[in-house]
Amino acid sequence: MNEKIKERCEALLALINDYSECWSCGQVIRDASLLVPDTLNPGKYRSVCTACKKETMRTLFPPRELKHLFEIIVESAEMNRPILVLVLSRTVFEVMIDALLYRLIERRYTDSEIGDSVMSNTNYHTKLKIIRDITGKTLKDLAKKAGHDKLTATLEELTNKRNAFLHEGIATKPEKVDLVSKFSTVRQKPLGDEDALQAIKFTIDAIDFFAKTFSENGNWIHPFEE
Ligand SMILES: [Zn+2]
Repeated sequence: MNEKIKERCEALLALINDYSECWSCGQVIRDASLLVPDTLNPGKYRSVCTACKKETMRTLFPPRELKHLFEIIVESAEMNRPILVLVLSRTVFEVMIDALLYRLIERRYTDSEIGDSVMSNTNYHTKLKIIRDITGKTLKDLAKKAGHDKLTATLEELTNKRNAFLHEGIATKPEKVDLVSKFSTVRQKPLGDEDALQAIKFTIDAIDFFAKTFSENGNWIHPFEE
């Protein structure tokens, strides 16, 4: 496997043991040393939060269920299947959008029956609209605020490549080819290492984006107290 891809795969797998969320202040922090096993509660973590300075329980971030998805991304990269890496990276993003929306709903003390119904009866695009309505920001604005200016542009590129594959069954991307000085044409080029690299980097950046956006929306907001 390409050395760069290998390096990025390792960085991706490392994420799962790096971030955690404080039960008290809701800040998601990248610091593996905070994940101290709680001797009284096997399988749980507890430590002094670097944000609120309280000794609290900590939850793994991103959710543990994503570990399996990360592993399949790495396996697909090892098998030299950039299209699978790309499709799965896009899936990670959608799972995290779900988690973000659920957080926004939950932290406003919404009845869980209503929250569950919103989650199961809305598609990805509607979820983005609800996130925009609650936060007052588009996905692009949220990404910018978290310091990831290019995240949504890359998301769009990944989506275009994925859709081309889903609709035509061919893992290619359009590439502009210069013929002579003034003329160029567009040809279809097979996906390669650079596409796998882009998708893995996107996932790493997306997790950082979500960590910051989760932190930004970590407080519980009571409807009658502003
Ligand atoms: Zn805290």
